[in-house]
Amino acid sequence: MMKIRLNTSTVLQGSLQDIPVPTRVRIPLQEKHKSVVKKKQIVGCGQVIAEISSKSAYNLGFVHSSINGMVEDILPDAIIVGPIPAPKEGEEAPVPARTEPCAELDTLAGEELCRKLLELGVTTSGMHATRTVIVNGLNPEPGMIASEHLLESASETLKAGIQLLERALKPGSIKLVIATGRQFTVHGCTTITASDVYPATIDPLVIYAATGAERPDNVDILSVVDLYHIGRVAETKLPFTQSVVSVKDKVFCVPVGTAVEDLLTAAAVSIGPDKIVTLGGPMRGASIFDMAIGIDKSCSAITMVDVGQFPPVQPNPCINCGECVLACPARIHPGMLSRYAEFEMFDEARSHHVEACLECGMCTFVCPANRPVLQYLLLAKAALIAQDEEVAACRLQDL
Ligand code: SF4
Ligand code: SF4
Repeated sequence: MMKIRLNTSTVLQGSLQDIPVPTRVRIPLQEKHKSVVKKKQIVGCGQVIAEISSKSAYNLGFVHSSINGMVEDILPDAIIVGPIPAPKEGEEAPVPARTEPCAELDTLAGEELCRKLLELGVTTSGMHATRTVIVNGLNPEPGMIASEHLLESASETLKAGIQLLERALKPGSIKLVIATGRQFTVHGCTTITASDVYPATIDPLVIYAATGAERPDNVDILSVVDLYHIGRVAETKLPFTQSVVSVKDKVFCVPVGTAVEDLLTAAAVSIGPDKIVTLGGPMRGASIFDMAIGIDKSCSAITMVDVGQFPPVQPNPCINCGECVLACPARIHPGMLSRYAEFEMFDEARSHHVEACLECGMCTFVCPANRPVLQYLLLAKAALIAQDEEVAACRLQDL
């Protein structure tokens, strides 16, 4: 097994850093988002460019332009905003719309406030009224430092976020979970300490550490980075159009959709064929091959992994050693489940609780056969979701 440090707490230094405003951004969209702009339309920073058609207060947040510019392209998974072309001779230069602060934000409460937050770009789908709210203040993975950095440097913004959440959700209590030995506090939260050794830092295990219950149905959890986004909305009354992203030992605030290569250039990080670049952390991040990909609001780290640092995973046979069972925090049998998935025995995978997998990646990390264990489990989960959707869509007359 490859030995790397799995503690996620780290020595903190410096403040949030800006980068030069990029001339072009590729703003990611989710499948549910519907574009509300047209190609060649001039848009201002903070202007809505994609919405959710549902009127619910609890859904994905609207998407806003993160720079002043012109819509260059509308793709299924992104809207590209580039520079405004120079006006033709005799024509006036187009002026991007200016977004005004939302005056109602101070007076709304409950569901109406949640809906307004959604329109201002906050994803509210995980929020419910009157539950216990847990703020996960642990850095989620080794090398991802944004959470503790914000706890150290942005206490007023986090306090503003808590005050807004209190009005929106009227929670029973708000608990902040931090690493054992750390001293962070956030006004309005009860502080609880927990292990910072991965995978104890992922949400289901943080909920367990804070409540003593597995999968309780009266708890909502959000990260410190999510709370910072809400706090910035509270402070400015404007959509927060930035991503907070760590690169090595620095934390940057960049316009959503900034190309990975623009951030790495600003961070003075050189990339070459000897590096794998990952959106997210080393355990659960997604490796990318296109450095022009835009950074999403939910991405809180760019990680570089040296080629060859880890042996490549391959569809090698399982040797039934049990290492993955010992490492699995969900107490399921990853090796057996991976074999079911490998041979498309998805119903057997379901009956052995594949859905309980927390997607922490520890099974792949410890597997001496270098099998893509988690990847097999993700395949089984996706196949079962597709199967369930197909069944749900069946009507009697189709039979
Ligand atoms: S990713 Fe692997 S180790 Fe983690 S919960 Fe799922 S099966 Fe267990
Ligand atoms: S999947 Fe890997 S770690 Fe798990 S039992 Fe098989 S060989 Fe061992």
